[in-house]
Order: sequence, then C-alpha cells, then structure tokens
Amino acid sequence: MASSVQTPLSSLNRRLRNICEREGMDYGEDVLDEDELVRRFRVATQMTAKTIRGVMSEIKRAKTVDLCFLIDGTSSMRPHIEGVRDSVAKIVNTMVRSRAAPTGIEQLRLAVVVYRDFDNPTPMEVCQFTESPDKCVDFCKNAKAISGAKHDPPEDVFGGLEQASKLQWSKDAGTRIVFHMGDSPCHGNRYHSASMRDSYPNGDPRGRTSQDLFKRFKELGIDYYFGKISRHTDQMIDEFCKDYGRFITTFSVEDVSKIAGSVISSISTSVEENVEKSKLGISRQAKLRDYRLDGGTPAWDSLPVLQGTYLVYELPDTVEDVVDDKPLVEKQISNVRVKIAPNPFAEGSERIAYFGQDLFVGYGDHRARSATRRGGRAVSAPRRTVVVAEPTPAATPTDIVLKEYKYLGKKQNTLERYKTACEAQTVAFYLADQFNSLTGPLGEPPIKFLKTKALLLTSSKGLRIMSCERKFFGDVKFVKFSNNCAYSMQSAAREVSTSGVDPRIVGTVMAFSHWTFQRTDGFLMVVDLQGCICEDGTITTSLQKSNDAKAAAVKKTKTKKVLMTDPAIHCLDVTRYAPLNLGRSGMQAFFNGHQCGQLCRRLGLEEVTQPSEKKYM
Ligand SMILES: [Zn+2]
Repeated sequence: MASSVQTPLSSLNRRLRNICEREGMDYGEDVLDEDELVRRFRVATQMTAKTIRGVMSEIKRAKTVDLCFLIDGTSSMRPHIEGVRDSVAKIVNTMVRSRAAPTGIEQLRLAVVVYRDFDNPTPMEVCQFTESPDKCVDFCKNAKAISGAKHDPPEDVFGGLEQASKLQWSKDAGTRIVFHMGDSPCHGNRYHSASMRDSYPNGDPRGRTSQDLFKRFKELGIDYYFGKISRHTDQMIDEFCKDYGRFITTFSVEDVSKIAGSVISSISTSVEENVEKSKLGISRQAKLRDYRLDGGTPAWDSLPVLQGTYLVYELPDTVEDVVDDKPLVEKQISNVRVKIAPNPFAEGSERIAYFGQDLFVGYGDHRARSATRRGGRAVSAPRRTVVVAEPTPAATPTDIVLKEYKYLGKKQNTLERYKTACEAQTVAFYLADQFNSLTGPLGEPPIKFLKTKALLLTSSKGLRIMSCERKFFGDVKFVKFSNNCAYSMQSAAREVSTSGVDPRIVGTVMAFSHWTFQRTDGFLMVVDLQGCICEDGTITTSLQKSNDAKAAAVKKTKTKKVLMTDPAIHCLDVTRYAPLNLGRSGMQAFFNGHQCGQLCRRLGLEEVTQPSEKKYM
C-alpha cells in the first residue's frame, strides 16, 4: 500500500487541468509559478461559473412542464373525463411553485386530447395547451362521452397519439408529458387478444404505426404514462413498451379518485429525472451503456477473479483544513481481488450499481478516535493510528456494491470524476461525524456516510473504473431526502406521506445540510442526501468495527440511524467537487426550499434567505 500526500500545488493543478480538459482546452505542464496559477484559477472559475449558469437555466427549463391528458372519449369513459375535470385544480395547486410548495415547478400548461373512433361523428376533440386550469375544466365539462355505430371494442388510439404529438409543445418546456387513459386497445390484432372483435384486425387503416408514433414522442422528448382502467389494454401497453424503447409506468385509475395522485407522481418523476440530467450536463440524447438490470444473486463461483487497485482518501483533520483546501491524503492499495456481477442490479440518474465481492481483508484502515469535551461542546478529536498492512485472502468474501457512470463518453468516465466523488464523500463522512457529536447528546439519530473507494481494473479491454462501497445490510429502504438543487422539502414531504419515513429523521437530515453551511461559515454545504434508515442491528459491520464503543452506546439509546451515500457538495470555490457543485446558486436553491425545524433551532442555526454575496478570490 502506498500513501501519497498531494501537495496543495499538485492537487490544484490536477483540478484546474480537469476543468480545462472538460472545456476542450490543453492545460500543458503543471504550473509552479504562483501568479500564473492564480490566473489559471480565475479562468477556471469563470468557465465553471458559466457552466453552472447553464445548468441552472436547464434546471429551470426542466421545471417548466407541458402536460397533455390523452383520453378515450367513448361512452364508458364518462367517469374519467369527469375525473380529469375534478383533478385539474388539485394537480395545479400541488405542483406549481407557490408559498405552499416553494420548490415546485415553475410553470404548468395543460392540454386535453379526447379521441374516439373512425365511425364516430366527433372522432376527436382538442383543448390546446393553456395555463388556465379553468379552460381545461370547461373543456372537460363540454366533452361528451359518446360511442360510434359499429360497436367493436378497439378505438382510434393512434389518432389520439398522433394528435398529441401535433400539439403546440412549448420550446421552453423541458418536461413534456402525455398522460393517457383508456379502457380499450387500439386497432390491430398485435395489440389485443385475437378473440376481440376488431373492424381493422390488420392495424390502422391509415397506415400509421406505433413505431413511428413513439419515435416522434422520443424526438419531442415526451414522457408517456398510462392510466389503466381495464386489463384489455395490457397487451397494447406491452407492445408500446417495445416501440417506446423503455418501460412505461402504468397507474391503476379504475377508481377516478386516483387520477390526481397518479398525474402528480408522473410530473414529479419526469421533472426530477430531467433536473438530474440537467445538473449532470447530460443531454436528452446522451448514449447509455448497454445493460439490463438483474436483481438476482450472481453465480459467484462461476465468475472470474479480477485484480485491481483501490484509491482511498483519509479523513481530513479539521473543518478548517477542508475550507483551506488542504488536500486529502490519498492511499493506493494494489493487489485487490474482487468479483463483479455481470449485470447491474439497480440504476440511479447517473450511475448503475453492481453486486460484488471483495475476496481480501486487511486494507489497514483502522484508526482510533476519541471524543473529548471542550468548553461544554463535544469535539471529536481524531487520534490516528493508521495500521499499514498488505491485504490477505479473506475466509468469507465481503459483499460490496460497485458503481459506474451509465452514460458513455470520455467526459463521463474520467478517473478524476471518480476521485472527486470519493473526495466529496470523504469530506461528507467527516462532517457527519462532527455533526453527530453535537446531535447525539440531543437524542438525534446519527447520520453516517459509507466509506467509498475508487477501484481501478486493468484488463485486455482497457481500464475500467468503478466506485466501491460496502453493501447495505439487511432489508432496508432507500430514501432520497434531497437533491442538490430542487425538491428537497417536497420530496421529503412526499416520502413522509407515502412511505412512513419518520418526519423527525427528515428534519435531522435537512439540519445536517444547514449545519454544514453554518459550520464552514457559508463556504460549503453537503446536499443530495440519500441513503437508508436502518433499525438497530442492521448497520454494516464496517461501522461497528471502526467504532465499537460508540455503536454499542448508540444501540442502548437509539432505534434508528441513517446511512448515506453519493452526496454532492456546493462550495464557493467552484473548481472543487465538480460537476455537482452548483456553488452559491445551489446553496440558494437549498434555502429556497428549506424551513428550519426544531433541530436547526436547537443547534442555533441561523435562518438564511440569501447565502453571502462575498466573492471567493
Ligand atoms: Zn435549518
């Protein structure tokens, strides 16, 4: 194992080089001259600030929504047309940015397309996009649910899809949604059971195909959701999935009172996905790796042993060291032996995750820590004893989770990107420890970050880089408490209402972000908080090992802990923690959506309406 102390100069050069290369510029040799380094730092800061402005405006676009209700308008659908009429106000009030929902979407326009069948005297009725919920409601009041003469079950669904694609979608709407409800399939035996009577068993009499219609949807960036009323549409949706090229989220709306909630959920999902893509600078057309998800247990015995190298960072000594840009000590551990599942078991907005096994133990990262009290405040004073040891084969492999970026492209998969993510998580880990030493005595559940490493695997196919963490233990639920720019409280509130997450824990997590801001004097804050709430006895062994005394003490008094992963850090020095660092804009977005709770007040955190305007360098 080799430890390398990055000097402030080499660390800064590395960061600036990365920014330059991301912008397609050549950095050349490391710069040693201080004036030149300051000049380059300014240039890199300006370039990054410009990128952040672009990201913020993309986020705003993602929060501008056009939503089209596509409804079968034949006689059996009367309750659902009325259901849409009655849901519009609730949808608008819940979603649109207001005093009640401060982090909601910026603008929501609604359209309605009612389709019937070829033989119907009124085959189609359209309400163009409007910002006025009343116009929508009036349209639904006047739309009749009427059937035609021929009485075969299939309807002209293709006509409806085509009409939806021809609406005047706003170029400012970064999120576009079609929410389709119908109880009958489209024409063509491909889409329904052969026993169903169909005047056009060979498909659309006008020659339109679902391939072409969904291709058009994809070109327009439309997310398609389906509200299911009867099983007669199941085969149609299966076929649509193939043409759409992705899974179609289906809601059961047989009970019309479910319409509003289903539409709200669709909007939230699409907006959050688009916000995530915006902040990562991923274009809607970005190319994904070729993978399929497989949640099963891998056949470990048949998988090859891979040899690689871990990169890990040591914790900083003080918060001031973090603020002062003292580089973290980087350790390289070679001769690592792992196995990796062939397919990922889960995906997030930027990465896919694989099960893995680490076959060795003894990476020598045991350190003793002790908490002392100074001036009445609990201060965690790290006393390090770093045991250096070569890894040796383990009796039983350790379960690990390996993640890699899911979009292809050179900029998406650089070692620098994995290193930066590791550094951010190491800093978050340290800050959470500091936070826990203050909140533990108040009876709050501790917040822990998983330790993360970068794993470098060299093979004949080239270098593969992944990040590596211990696997969450037991049957735990993954919760996204906040992201780095929008929806923090809203997502949290939704989690509280829909999945029974203890609101007190949400309060603790939000207070942690706020505390990191105040503790660093407004220099940085840890956001994008996501992870698992663990009951007693389900924390991973690594935590128990590294902190035996504390874990035992915690066990007596606490029932819950929060284990987090993949944080982002907003920092006034925008050359750090790229690409998720949105600087002051990100901090502002957090405070726009944050209302201080009880814990914030007990910790003496000051309410922030506007993060400081002070310039960094
Ligand atoms: Zn607060």
